[in-house]
Amino acid sequence: MREQIIVGAGLSGMVAAINLAREGFKVRIRERRQSIGGLTDIEGLEGRVINIGDGTPINLERLAAYTGIDISPVAVPLKECRNHVYGKTVDLTFYEGVPTYLVERGPRPSSLDVFLYDLAVAEGVEFTFNDTVTDFSDLPPDSIVATGLFGEAWPALGVPHMQVFGYLAMSRTDEPDPRVILYFDEYTRDYAFYSQVNGARGACLFSRGRPLDVSVKDRFERQLAENDGIVFEGWDAVSIGALPVLSARNPRLFAKNFILAGTLSGTIDPLLLFGVHGGLVSGKIAAMAVTDHQAALAEFARVNEYFRLGFLLSTLYRTVPIWMLKRMTWAGLRLYPVMAPLAGERAFRLLPGYGRL
Ligand SMILES: Cc1cc2nc3c(=O)[nH]c(=O)nc-3n(C[C@H](O)[C@H](O)[C@H](O)COP(=O)(O)OP(=O)(O)OC[C@H]3O[C@@H](n4cnc5c(N)ncnc54)[C@H](O)[C@@H]3O)c2cc1C
Repeated sequence: MREQIIVGAGLSGMVAAINLAREGFKVRIRERRQSIGGLTDIEGLEGRVINIGDGTPINLERLAAYTGIDISPVAVPLKECRNHVYGKTVDLTFYEGVPTYLVERGPRPSSLDVFLYDLAVAEGVEFTFNDTVTDFSDLPPDSIVATGLFGEAWPALGVPHMQVFGYLAMSRTDEPDPRVILYFDEYTRDYAFYSQVNGARGACLFSRGRPLDVSVKDRFERQLAENDGIVFEGWDAVSIGALPVLSARNPRLFAKNFILAGTLSGTIDPLLLFGVHGGLVSGKIAAMAVTDHQAALAEFARVNEYFRLGFLLSTLYRTVPIWMLKRMTWAGLRLYPVMAPLAGERAFRLLPGYGRL
Protein backbone atom coordinates (compact mmCIF):
# COMPACT_ATOMS: atom_id res chain seq x y z
CA MET A 1 0.00 0.00 0.00
CA ARG A 2 1.45 3.39 -0.99
CA GLU A 3 2.06 5.77 1.91
CA GLN A 4 1.29 9.46 1.89
CA ILE A 5 2.40 12.08 4.40
CA ILE A 6 0.39 15.25 4.88
CA VAL A 7 1.55 18.10 7.10
CA GLY A 8 -1.31 19.98 8.78
CA ALA A 9 -4.70 18.70 9.96
CA GLY A 10 -6.64 21.73 8.79
CA LEU A 11 -9.26 22.02 6.05
CA SER A 12 -7.11 21.34 3.02
CA GLY A 13 -4.98 18.66 4.70
CA MET A 14 -8.00 16.67 5.79
CA VAL A 15 -9.82 16.97 2.44
CA ALA A 16 -6.66 15.67 0.74
CA ALA A 17 -6.34 12.87 3.29
CA ILE A 18 -9.94 11.67 2.94
CA ASN A 19 -9.64 11.58 -0.85
CA LEU A 20 -6.33 9.70 -0.83
CA ALA A 21 -7.51 7.21 1.80
CA ARG A 22 -10.51 6.47 -0.42
CA GLU A 23 -8.11 5.78 -3.29
CA GLY A 24 -6.33 3.19 -1.17
CA PHE A 25 -3.37 5.20 0.16
CA LYS A 26 -2.13 4.71 3.70
CA VAL A 27 -2.32 8.32 4.87
CA ARG A 28 -0.68 9.91 7.90
CA ILE A 29 -1.27 13.51 8.91
CA ARG A 30 1.37 15.23 11.04
CA GLU A 31 -0.20 18.01 13.13
CA ARG A 32 1.49 20.49 15.45
CA ARG A 33 -1.46 20.95 17.81
CA GLN A 34 -2.29 18.37 20.47
CA SER A 35 -5.75 17.73 18.99
CA ILE A 36 -7.99 18.90 16.15
CA GLY A 37 -8.54 22.65 16.51
CA GLY A 38 -6.64 22.45 19.80
CA LEU A 39 -4.41 24.98 21.53
CA THR A 40 -2.53 27.15 19.13
CA ASP A 41 1.00 28.48 19.36
CA ILE A 42 0.45 31.55 17.22
CA GLU A 43 1.96 34.71 18.63
CA GLY A 44 -0.39 36.47 21.02
CA LEU A 45 -2.70 33.49 21.48
CA GLU A 46 -0.34 30.84 22.83
CA GLY A 47 -2.24 28.27 24.83
CA ARG A 48 -5.73 29.24 23.58
CA VAL A 49 -7.99 27.63 21.01
CA ILE A 50 -9.36 29.59 18.09
CA ASN A 51 -13.08 28.91 18.17
CA ILE A 52 -14.90 31.24 15.77
CA GLY A 53 -17.23 31.22 12.78
CA ASP A 54 -15.70 31.63 9.32
CA GLY A 55 -18.12 33.02 6.75
CA THR A 56 -17.98 32.03 3.10
CA PRO A 57 -20.16 31.68 0.00
CA ILE A 58 -20.44 28.00 -0.94
CA ASN A 59 -22.51 25.99 -3.36
CA LEU A 60 -22.76 22.96 -1.07
CA GLU A 61 -23.95 20.51 -3.69
CA ARG A 62 -21.23 21.33 -6.19
CA LEU A 63 -18.56 21.40 -3.50
CA ALA A 64 -19.68 17.95 -2.35
CA ALA A 65 -19.57 16.61 -5.92
CA TYR A 66 -16.07 18.08 -6.39
CA THR A 67 -14.42 17.13 -3.10
CA GLY A 68 -16.44 13.97 -2.40
CA ILE A 69 -17.34 15.45 1.00
CA ASP A 70 -20.73 16.89 1.88
CA ILE A 71 -20.15 19.47 4.61
CA SER A 72 -23.82 20.53 4.83
CA PRO A 73 -24.27 19.07 8.36
CA VAL A 74 -21.88 21.73 9.71
CA ALA A 75 -22.62 24.62 7.32
CA VAL A 76 -25.01 27.12 8.92
CA PRO A 77 -26.89 29.28 6.39
CA LEU A 78 -26.35 33.02 6.69
CA LYS A 79 -29.02 35.21 5.15
CA GLU A 80 -27.79 38.70 5.91
CA CYS A 81 -24.89 40.74 7.11
CA ARG A 82 -24.63 44.17 8.74
CA ASN A 83 -21.93 46.50 7.44
CA HIS A 84 -20.62 49.61 9.14
CA VAL A 85 -18.87 51.43 6.34
CA TYR A 86 -16.96 54.57 7.26
CA GLY A 87 -19.66 55.65 9.69
CA LYS A 88 -22.72 54.53 7.69
CA THR A 89 -24.66 51.36 8.39
CA VAL A 90 -25.82 49.18 5.51
CA ASP A 91 -27.83 45.99 6.11
CA LEU A 92 -27.37 43.58 3.29
CA THR A 93 -29.53 40.56 2.47
CA PHE A 94 -27.51 38.04 0.51
CA TYR A 95 -28.71 37.21 -2.97
CA GLU A 96 -30.11 33.69 -2.71
CA GLY A 97 -28.40 32.58 -5.92
CA VAL A 98 -25.09 32.82 -4.04
CA PRO A 99 -25.71 30.98 -0.77
CA THR A 100 -23.47 32.00 2.11
CA TYR A 101 -22.68 30.00 5.24
CA LEU A 102 -20.87 30.19 8.53
CA VAL A 103 -18.74 27.24 9.51
CA GLU A 104 -17.51 26.88 13.05
CA ARG A 105 -13.74 26.42 13.41
CA GLY A 106 -12.14 24.85 16.44
CA PRO A 107 -12.23 21.77 18.63
CA ARG A 108 -15.96 21.39 19.34
CA PRO A 109 -18.05 18.59 17.75
CA SER A 110 -20.09 21.21 15.86
CA SER A 111 -17.00 22.50 14.01
CA LEU A 112 -16.02 21.81 10.41
CA ASP A 113 -12.60 20.69 11.64
CA VAL A 114 -14.04 17.93 13.84
CA PHE A 115 -16.52 16.93 11.13
CA LEU A 116 -13.65 16.37 8.67
CA TYR A 117 -11.55 14.64 11.33
CA ASP A 118 -14.31 12.12 12.07
CA LEU A 119 -14.65 11.39 8.35
CA ALA A 120 -10.89 11.01 7.98
CA VAL A 121 -10.65 8.60 10.92
CA ALA A 122 -13.54 6.59 9.47
CA GLU A 123 -11.57 6.33 6.21
CA GLY A 124 -8.54 5.00 8.12
CA VAL A 125 -6.38 8.17 8.09
CA GLU A 126 -3.78 8.19 10.89
CA PHE A 127 -2.99 11.33 12.84
CA THR A 128 0.07 12.16 14.89
CA PHE A 129 -0.44 15.17 17.13
CA ASN A 130 2.17 17.34 18.86
CA ASP A 131 4.18 16.68 15.71
CA THR A 132 5.50 19.97 14.36
CA VAL A 133 7.43 19.67 11.11
CA THR A 134 10.35 22.07 11.31
CA ASP A 135 12.76 20.51 8.84
CA PHE A 136 10.89 20.05 5.56
CA SER A 137 13.88 18.42 3.90
CA ASP A 138 13.16 15.31 6.01
CA LEU A 139 9.80 14.75 4.29
CA PRO A 140 9.45 12.25 1.44
CA PRO A 141 9.01 13.78 -2.06
CA ASP A 142 5.40 14.57 -2.96
CA SER A 143 4.40 15.02 0.67
CA ILE A 144 1.47 17.42 0.91
CA VAL A 145 2.19 20.54 2.96
CA ALA A 146 -1.05 22.10 4.19
CA THR A 147 0.09 24.25 7.08
CA GLY A 148 -2.29 27.19 6.58
CA LEU A 149 -1.48 30.67 7.78
CA PHE A 150 0.85 29.57 10.51
CA GLY A 151 4.35 28.25 10.67
CA GLU A 152 7.66 27.50 9.22
CA ALA A 153 6.69 26.38 5.73
CA TRP A 154 6.58 29.83 4.13
CA PRO A 155 10.28 30.63 4.28
CA ALA A 156 11.34 26.98 4.08
CA LEU A 157 9.47 26.46 0.80
CA GLY A 158 10.17 29.91 -0.62
CA VAL A 159 6.54 31.05 -0.79
CA PRO A 160 6.22 34.88 -0.99
CA HIS A 161 4.18 36.00 1.99
CA MET A 162 3.10 38.94 4.05
CA GLN A 163 2.56 38.92 7.81
CA VAL A 164 -0.93 39.69 9.03
CA PHE A 165 -1.51 41.33 12.39
CA GLY A 166 -4.57 42.24 14.36
CA TYR A 167 -6.65 41.98 17.48
CA LEU A 168 -8.82 39.03 18.35
CA ALA A 169 -11.53 38.50 20.98
CA MET A 170 -13.56 35.34 21.56
CA SER A 171 -16.24 34.14 23.96
CA ARG A 172 -19.56 32.28 24.14
CA THR A 173 -23.06 33.58 23.44
CA ASP A 174 -26.57 32.28 24.19
CA GLU A 175 -27.92 33.82 20.99
CA PRO A 176 -28.93 30.90 18.77
CA ASP A 177 -28.93 32.68 15.40
CA PRO A 178 -25.84 33.04 13.21
CA ARG A 179 -24.71 36.61 12.70
CA VAL A 180 -21.98 38.53 10.90
CA ILE A 181 -21.08 42.21 11.16
CA LEU A 182 -18.36 43.86 9.08
CA TYR A 183 -16.58 47.11 9.84
CA PHE A 184 -14.75 49.15 7.22
CA ASP A 185 -13.07 52.19 8.69
CA GLU A 186 -10.05 54.41 8.35
CA TYR A 187 -8.19 52.48 11.02
CA THR A 188 -7.19 49.66 8.68
CA ARG A 189 -6.95 49.15 4.93
CA ASP A 190 -8.29 45.69 5.66
CA TYR A 191 -11.44 45.30 7.75
CA ALA A 192 -12.82 44.07 11.02
CA PHE A 193 -15.55 41.53 11.59
CA TYR A 194 -17.74 39.97 14.22
CA SER A 195 -19.28 36.52 13.80
CA GLN A 196 -21.34 34.15 15.91
CA VAL A 197 -22.36 30.58 15.21
CA ASN A 198 -23.34 27.60 17.38
CA GLY A 199 -22.81 29.70 20.52
CA ALA A 200 -19.19 30.61 19.64
CA ARG A 201 -18.52 34.25 18.91
CA GLY A 202 -15.47 36.22 17.96
CA ALA A 203 -14.28 39.55 16.60
CA CYS A 204 -11.15 40.21 14.65
CA LEU A 205 -9.47 43.33 13.37
CA PHE A 206 -7.08 42.64 10.48
CA SER A 207 -4.09 44.50 9.17
CA ARG A 208 -1.76 43.01 6.60
CA GLY A 209 1.81 44.12 6.69
CA ARG A 210 1.87 46.17 9.90
CA PRO A 211 0.71 45.85 13.50
CA LEU A 212 -2.04 48.21 14.65
CA ASP A 213 -1.81 50.55 17.58
CA VAL A 214 -3.95 49.61 20.57
CA SER A 215 -5.97 52.83 20.10
CA VAL A 216 -7.31 51.32 16.87
CA LYS A 217 -8.55 48.26 18.74
CA ASP A 218 -10.08 50.55 21.39
CA ARG A 219 -12.00 52.37 18.68
CA PHE A 220 -13.29 49.14 17.12
CA GLU A 221 -14.18 47.82 20.58
CA ARG A 222 -16.14 51.02 21.30
CA GLN A 223 -17.94 50.88 17.95
CA LEU A 224 -18.98 47.26 18.51
CA ALA A 225 -20.41 48.14 21.93
CA GLU A 226 -22.18 51.34 20.83
CA ASN A 227 -23.50 50.18 17.45
CA ASP A 228 -24.22 46.53 18.09
CA GLY A 229 -24.28 46.07 21.88
CA ILE A 230 -21.41 43.56 21.69
CA VAL A 231 -18.82 43.52 24.47
CA PHE A 232 -15.85 41.18 24.99
CA GLU A 233 -13.95 40.93 28.25
CA GLY A 234 -10.51 40.61 26.73
CA TRP A 235 -8.71 41.27 23.46
CA ASP A 236 -5.38 39.86 22.30
CA ALA A 237 -2.91 41.56 20.00
CA VAL A 238 -2.04 38.79 17.56
CA SER A 239 0.33 38.07 14.76
CA ILE A 240 -2.16 35.90 12.90
CA GLY A 241 0.39 34.43 10.55
CA ALA A 242 1.44 34.76 6.94
CA LEU A 243 -0.69 35.34 3.86
CA PRO A 244 0.12 34.47 0.24
CA VAL A 245 -0.81 37.92 -1.05
CA LEU A 246 2.60 39.44 -1.70
CA SER A 247 2.82 38.68 -5.39
CA ALA A 248 0.40 38.27 -8.29
CA ARG A 249 2.23 34.97 -8.88
CA ASN A 250 1.50 33.60 -5.44
CA PRO A 251 -0.69 30.60 -6.31
CA ARG A 252 1.54 27.53 -6.66
CA LEU A 253 0.80 23.84 -6.39
CA PHE A 254 4.40 22.68 -6.09
CA ALA A 255 7.40 23.95 -4.13
CA LYS A 256 10.71 22.10 -3.93
CA ASN A 257 9.69 18.42 -3.91
CA PHE A 258 6.34 18.99 -2.29
CA ILE A 259 2.69 19.52 -3.08
CA LEU A 260 1.15 22.58 -1.46
CA ALA A 261 -2.46 22.85 -0.31
CA GLY A 262 -4.74 25.43 1.28
CA THR A 263 -3.70 28.94 2.17
CA LEU A 264 -0.02 28.13 1.77
CA SER A 265 -0.64 27.33 -1.90
CA GLY A 266 -2.27 30.73 -2.47
CA THR A 267 -5.83 29.46 -2.77
CA ILE A 268 -7.24 32.47 -0.99
CA ASP A 269 -9.22 35.47 -2.15
CA PRO A 270 -6.61 38.24 -2.03
CA LEU A 271 -9.18 41.01 -1.53
CA LEU A 272 -11.21 39.98 1.53
CA LEU A 273 -9.05 36.99 2.50
CA PHE A 274 -11.77 34.32 2.30
CA GLY A 275 -9.80 31.08 2.65
CA VAL A 276 -12.30 28.36 3.52
CA HIS A 277 -13.65 27.67 0.03
CA GLY A 278 -10.20 27.57 -1.55
CA GLY A 279 -8.86 25.46 1.31
CA LEU A 280 -11.47 22.76 0.75
CA VAL A 281 -11.09 22.80 -3.04
CA SER A 282 -7.32 22.78 -2.99
CA GLY A 283 -7.26 19.74 -0.71
CA LYS A 284 -8.91 17.82 -3.53
CA ILE A 285 -6.42 19.15 -6.09
CA ALA A 286 -3.46 18.26 -3.84
CA ALA A 287 -4.77 14.69 -3.65
CA MET A 288 -5.04 14.67 -7.44
CA ALA A 289 -1.41 15.86 -7.70
CA VAL A 290 -0.16 12.77 -5.86
CA THR A 291 -1.10 10.60 -8.82
CA ASP A 292 -1.02 13.08 -11.72
CA HIS A 293 1.09 16.25 -11.52
CA GLN A 294 0.07 17.63 -14.89
CA ALA A 295 -3.69 17.17 -14.55
CA ALA A 296 -3.59 18.67 -11.06
CA LEU A 297 -1.54 21.63 -12.26
CA ALA A 298 -4.08 22.40 -14.98
CA GLU A 299 -6.92 22.13 -12.50
CA PHE A 300 -5.07 24.31 -9.99
CA ALA A 301 -4.60 27.03 -12.63
CA ARG A 302 -8.28 26.85 -13.60
CA VAL A 303 -9.48 27.15 -10.02
CA ASN A 304 -7.14 30.08 -9.27
CA GLU A 305 -7.85 31.87 -12.53
CA TYR A 306 -9.00 35.07 -10.85
CA PHE A 307 -6.20 35.47 -8.32
CA ARG A 308 -4.42 38.10 -10.42
CA LEU A 309 -7.58 40.16 -10.81
CA GLY A 310 -8.16 39.92 -7.06
CA PHE A 311 -4.56 40.88 -6.41
CA LEU A 312 -4.93 43.93 -8.63
CA LEU A 313 -8.17 45.00 -6.94
CA SER A 314 -6.60 44.44 -3.54
CA THR A 315 -3.56 46.56 -4.48
CA LEU A 316 -5.88 49.32 -5.70
CA TYR A 317 -7.98 49.05 -2.58
CA ARG A 318 -4.95 49.44 -0.40
CA THR A 319 -3.35 52.33 -2.25
CA VAL A 320 -6.13 54.68 -3.44
CA PRO A 321 -6.80 57.80 -1.32
CA ILE A 322 -9.17 57.19 1.56
CA TRP A 323 -11.94 59.42 0.11
CA MET A 324 -11.96 57.23 -3.00
CA LEU A 325 -11.90 54.06 -0.92
CA LYS A 326 -14.99 55.20 0.98
CA ARG A 327 -16.87 55.92 -2.23
CA MET A 328 -15.81 52.61 -3.78
CA THR A 329 -16.96 50.64 -0.73
CA TRP A 330 -20.26 52.49 -0.37
CA ALA A 331 -20.94 52.14 -4.08
CA GLY A 332 -20.16 48.41 -3.95
CA LEU A 333 -22.61 47.85 -1.12
CA ARG A 334 -25.36 50.05 -2.62
CA LEU A 335 -25.06 48.32 -5.98
CA TYR A 336 -25.02 44.82 -4.47
CA PRO A 337 -28.83 44.26 -4.48
CA VAL A 338 -28.99 45.18 -8.18
CA MET A 339 -25.70 43.72 -9.34
CA ALA A 340 -25.75 40.44 -7.41
CA PRO A 341 -28.66 38.86 -9.33
CA LEU A 342 -27.14 40.06 -12.62
CA ALA A 343 -23.62 38.90 -11.87
CA GLY A 344 -24.63 35.80 -9.87
CA GLU A 345 -21.69 33.56 -9.06
CA ARG A 346 -19.38 35.58 -11.29
CA ALA A 347 -19.31 38.25 -8.58
CA PHE A 348 -17.60 35.76 -6.27
CA ARG A 349 -15.06 34.27 -8.65
CA LEU A 350 -12.27 35.84 -6.65
CA LEU A 351 -12.88 32.97 -4.25
CA PRO A 352 -10.71 30.21 -5.65
CA GLY A 353 -12.89 27.72 -7.42
CA TYR A 354 -16.16 29.48 -6.77
CA GLY A 355 -18.41 29.15 -9.79
CA ARG A 356 -15.82 26.87 -11.42
CA LEU A 357 -16.72 23.58 -9.73
C1 LIG B 1 -9.03 34.82 12.75
C2 LIG B 1 -9.30 34.25 11.38
C3 LIG B 1 -10.53 34.45 10.77
C4 LIG B 1 -10.79 33.95 9.50
N1 LIG B 1 -12.02 34.14 8.95
C5 LIG B 1 -12.31 33.60 7.76
C6 LIG B 1 -13.62 33.73 7.20
O1 LIG B 1 -14.51 34.35 7.78
N2 LIG B 1 -13.86 33.16 5.98
C7 LIG B 1 -12.91 32.46 5.30
O2 LIG B 1 -13.18 31.96 4.20
N3 LIG B 1 -11.65 32.32 5.81
C8 LIG B 1 -11.34 32.86 7.01
N4 LIG B 1 -10.08 32.71 7.54
C9 LIG B 1 -9.07 31.99 6.75
C10 LIG B 1 -9.25 30.47 6.88
O3 LIG B 1 -9.36 30.11 8.23
C11 LIG B 1 -8.06 29.72 6.26
O4 LIG B 1 -7.75 30.27 4.99
C12 LIG B 1 -8.41 28.22 6.12
O5 LIG B 1 -8.37 27.65 7.39
C13 LIG B 1 -7.51 27.55 5.13
O6 LIG B 1 -7.32 26.19 5.40
P1 LIG B 1 -5.87 25.55 5.41
O7 LIG B 1 -6.07 24.11 5.23
O8 LIG B 1 -4.96 26.28 4.53
O9 LIG B 1 -5.29 25.87 6.89
P2 LIG B 1 -5.79 25.48 8.34
O10 LIG B 1 -7.20 25.04 8.31
O11 LIG B 1 -5.42 26.62 9.21
O12 LIG B 1 -4.89 24.22 8.73
C14 LIG B 1 -3.48 24.29 8.89
C15 LIG B 1 -3.07 23.21 9.90
O13 LIG B 1 -1.67 22.99 9.82
C16 LIG B 1 -1.13 22.88 11.14
N5 LIG B 1 0.31 23.22 11.06
C17 LIG B 1 0.84 24.44 10.78
N6 LIG B 1 2.20 24.37 10.74
C18 LIG B 1 2.51 23.08 10.99
C19 LIG B 1 3.77 22.37 11.09
N7 LIG B 1 4.93 23.00 10.88
N8 LIG B 1 3.75 21.04 11.39
C20 LIG B 1 2.56 20.39 11.59
N9 LIG B 1 1.35 21.02 11.51
C21 LIG B 1 1.32 22.33 11.21
C22 LIG B 1 -1.97 23.89 11.92
O14 LIG B 1 -1.88 23.66 13.32
C23 LIG B 1 -3.36 23.64 11.33
O15 LIG B 1 -4.04 22.61 12.00
C24 LIG B 1 -9.79 33.21 8.82
C25 LIG B 1 -8.55 33.00 9.42
C26 LIG B 1 -8.31 33.50 10.69
C27 LIG B 1 -6.99 33.20 11.35
